[in-house]
Amino acid sequence: MIKLGQQIENKFLEAVNNKSGNNVLDCYQCGKCVGTCPVSDFMDYPPREIMQMIKLGLKDETYMANSMWFCLTCAACSGRCPREINIPYVMESIRHLAIEENEYSDSGKVKQIMKFHEIFIDMVKRYGRNYELRMMAEFNIRTRNLFKDMHLAPKALLKGKIPLGVKKVKSTKAIQRMFKMAEKLEKTQ
Ligand code: SF4
Ligand code: SF4
Repeated sequence: MIKLGQQIENKFLEAVNNKSGNNVLDCYQCGKCVGTCPVSDFMDYPPREIMQMIKLGLKDETYMANSMWFCLTCAACSGRCPREINIPYVMESIRHLAIEENEYSDSGKVKQIMKFHEIFIDMVKRYGRNYELRMMAEFNIRTRNLFKDMHLAPKALLKGKIPLGVKKVKSTKAIQRMFKMAEKLEKTQ
């Protein structure tokens, strides 16, 4: 039986707090984050509910939700959080933990978002910045949707919205070193 004042072990909460540098227990469920979040309608559980799920140790349900994948890291929510919780950091931590533990939703949308992240990071590693045209092409190829949004391309190209080429930043080597350092740091956390 649980006694009054007894601490219940919640390893999931501990892991999220450690990774994100926040204390999710501070959340008092006011819901301001939900009202501010531009994509909460697309999430299985909006940020307030994700906070509560972490507090309750509902690891599997949190990992299987699409919420952290839809998070844009825009920080609109944390700007209004009265408890000053860095919600995008929390969302990002769940993404990392889910990948580390190889437990995440296999829905088509989540897979597409993961692919998009992968390709974007790849572009930054290669060119030091995004190369929109190549990114669109690779995304369509890797998601086996060759002609997705192709009808928009001529107009966008003509208007100069999508540059044909990309100018590499001067030191892509420094960027690659930065990625390596970040990967190393992540392993020590
Ligand atoms: S705004 Fe902050 S305190 Fe309020 S529900 Fe969201 S995370 Fe919790
Ligand atoms: S950081 Fe994520 S959870 Fe917060 S408002 Fe932006 S999209 Fe929503």
